[in-house]
Amino acid sequence: MKFKALIFVVSIITVSFFSGCRSRQVTARDNDRWLAHDMNRPRPMVITPGKTPSDPPSNAVVLFDGTDLSKWVSGKGEPAKWIVKNGYMQANRTGDVRTRKSFGNCQLHIEWASPEIVEGNSQDRGNSGVYFMSRYEVQVLDSYKNDTYPDGQAAAIYGRKPPLVNACKPPGQWQSYDIIFHRPVFKDGKVVKDATFTILHNGVLAQDHFKSPGGTSWINEHKVSDYKLHPDKLPLLLQDHGCPVRYRNIWLIELSD
Ligand code: MG
Repeated sequence: MKFKALIFVVSIITVSFFSGCRSRQVTARDNDRWLAHDMNRPRPMVITPGKTPSDPPSNAVVLFDGTDLSKWVSGKGEPAKWIVKNGYMQANRTGDVRTRKSFGNCQLHIEWASPEIVEGNSQDRGNSGVYFMSRYEVQVLDSYKNDTYPDGQAAAIYGRKPPLVNACKPPGQWQSYDIIFHRPVFKDGKVVKDATFTILHNGVLAQDHFKSPGGTSWINEHKVSDYKLHPDKLPLLLQDHGCPVRYRNIWLIELSD
């Protein structure tokens, strides 16, 4: 009896051991390198969030805090000439401005306001743009009761994808974009991973991990640019489309690939 009991216990232990191994292998594969609930897993970096979700957290690069354009240059690399006053910068027909530093994947917070005095319509009303890597445009436009082609309205990926909703505030009011951008990845000169955009416009989802099949530069009435090989990091650019659009509180968190 004692021997049979011993065999039984050994069998239970053996079965438990191997079934345990099986489940551990599956879990390890599913989690890439780590087991579920693995205490050896590296901890996320501890950061201090902003006072409100609009304020920069401790891991952000502040690009414009309302005081000066020291982090920005003109399209030609000269000092930026946009107006700075009352905590905002404003386009003034002196050309686009871009950051001195280059960025790839990132989370961007930016606030903008279209002109209080409404002039023009469609693409000629409060037009500007946030260009990731100086080339992928998230449209800035006064889209409050202003009809235009949908892939050219505010929070559109220009020429590629209309926003899910029109969350525009009336002209003159401050609005926010919170954008998660992933750069396109090139291999041997060809794109192997499309750029992606997730956008909250005034806190509302406007782009849901949209994979852009190409660039956003105007080619002709019904065509925008294809992808063209470029470096992994390039400056962020704000468009001067001739409309006095204002920007404030711009910060960014760099993300890994
Ligand atoms: Mg534009």
